[in-house]
Amino acid sequence: MSTGSDFPNLVSGSNQQNKVLVADDDPMMGEFLGAILEQIADVTVVSSGEAALKALETDAYDVVLLDVEMPGMGGLEACKAIKSSPDTSHISVIIVTARIGDKMEVDALDLGATDFIVKPFVAKIVLARVRNHLIMQAQARQLRLLSMSDGLTGIANRRCFDQTLENECSRAARTNTPLSLLLIDVDRFKQYNDHYGHSQGDECLKKIAKALTLSARRAGDLVARVGGEEFAFIFPNTDKDSLIAIAQSVSMHVSELALSHIDGIDGKVTISIGGTTLDGTNQPISGSAIYMKADELLYKAKEAGRNCAVIE
Ligand SMILES: [Mg+2]
Repeated sequence: MSTGSDFPNLVSGSNQQNKVLVADDDPMMGEFLGAILEQIADVTVVSSGEAALKALETDAYDVVLLDVEMPGMGGLEACKAIKSSPDTSHISVIIVTARIGDKMEVDALDLGATDFIVKPFVAKIVLARVRNHLIMQAQARQLRLLSMSDGLTGIANRRCFDQTLENECSRAARTNTPLSLLLIDVDRFKQYNDHYGHSQGDECLKKIAKALTLSARRAGDLVARVGGEEFAFIFPNTDKDSLIAIAQSVSMHVSELALSHIDGIDGKVTISIGGTTLDGTNQPISGSAIYMKADELLYKAKEAGRNCAVIE
């Protein structure tokens, strides 16, 4: 099941392998730190500040250890770069230095470093320090996951959806690729709740959320619960023809649930769908603008008698 670019990583966050990056120009020191930390993490060792920043572009790390004195970019400068980029600012940075003093300590903390290791060091202490930072990183990951997921259905929530949609709109404009969006609303859901009660209403929403995830095809596809009985799907790099086929599959998966609804269409729970595509040649558009467009089309589907899709 794929539910979105950032989402699966966050979901599997708790059992994800811890990753530590070590930058030290002294090969013996790098090797020594690497050997110590391999007991608790997957370790990469590089020999310069520049190489550390390059490694961070391609891989996600939890903790970075930076030697202060390196030719070229030193540890403090690299720390500053890591902490000033939104992609890496959450990473714990530990400064490794032989010259600890008040000024160095204040400078490093001002730059966002989280801890120090003073050379020469005791292996057990390095291990304990880094382990503590890894635990804090895992907790932070867990909180990020909770803040992005819907408590009832377990799929992405509105916040995650809004952020992802903005990112995907920028990416679509940057890469001239199409971007598609579906809004899905459960028909006559108020009547469902009134008749069957809210707890069965919740069960109904959980089943629908699960059925919707069956239509996610690629890692970048994201399905979210964006309102009470409203769901939304983001499909990067997907054109209108593909979107029409996906909307059919979404309807099919929901009708296969065959959920009874005494006030529903033909006695069943049904959905209405509004969908739209940015064709990749459009001017850059905001997430809220494409959302409003899809919402208008969803309204048209409701007006047309529900249990149908309007894709434009
Ligand atoms: Mg050095």
